Amino acid sequence: MIKRKRKKKKDRGNRGLAFEKETRVPLNQLEARLWRWFSEYVRRSGANDFGMVYCYTCNRYLYWNESQAGHFVPRGRKAVKFNEQNVKPQCPRCNHPLWGKGESGKFAIRLDKDYGRGTAERLQSLGSIRGAKLGRVWIVQKIGEYKEKVHELRRSMKHIDEAHKPVRRPTRMKAQSSRFISEIDQRDVL
Ligand SMILES: [Zn+2]
Repeated sequence: MIKRKRKKKKDRGNRGLAFEKETRVPLNQLEARLWRWFSEYVRRSGANDFGMVYCYTCNRYLYWNESQAGHFVPRGRKAVKFNEQNVKPQCPRCNHPLWGKGESGKFAIRLDKDYGRGTAERLQSLGSIRGAKLGRVWIVQKIGEYKEKVHELRRSMKHIDEAHKPVRRPTRMKAQSSRFISEIDQRDVL
C-alpha cells in the first residue's frame, strides 16, 4: 500500500498530473478531444471583431460557430491533421463531402497566396508520409496548448457569443433542419 502511494507521487513529479490522467484514455478518444479544441481554435482565431469568418475557399461570410474547420490535405493524413496552415474555416457547402468536396483547388491557390508559393505542395508532401502516427505525449501536450488558447479566445469573444445565442423560431420553422435554417440566415446576411 505504502509502495503504491510512493510510486504514484513519483510519476506525478516526472510527467505531470495531466499526463498521468490521460494515460488511461484510449488514443483515438484523445485525438478526438484534441480535434474539438483545435477546430474551435481554428474557427475562433479566424474571426473578426464581430465573430464572423470568411470561408477560406468561397469567401462566404458566416458566424464562426456555423463555419467548419476544413482540411486541405484530408484529415486521414495524420502528419498534417493538426497543422494550422492545412486547416481553415470553411462554409458547410465547401467542406461538404459531396458538394464542395473541400474545394482543394481553391484552397491550394489561397494557401500559396497567404504563405508563399509552394505551400500547398509542401503540405501535400508532408501529408504523404506513410504511417505517420500521433504520439500520446504529443497529443496531450497539444490538448493543453489549444485548450488554453481557446479559453483565452472564449473570454475575449464572450460578448459576441452571447449576442449569437440561438433565437426562438416560430413552430413551423422548427420542423425544418437546423442546417437549412442556417442556410437561410446566411443568404439574409449576404
Ligand atoms: Zn465556402
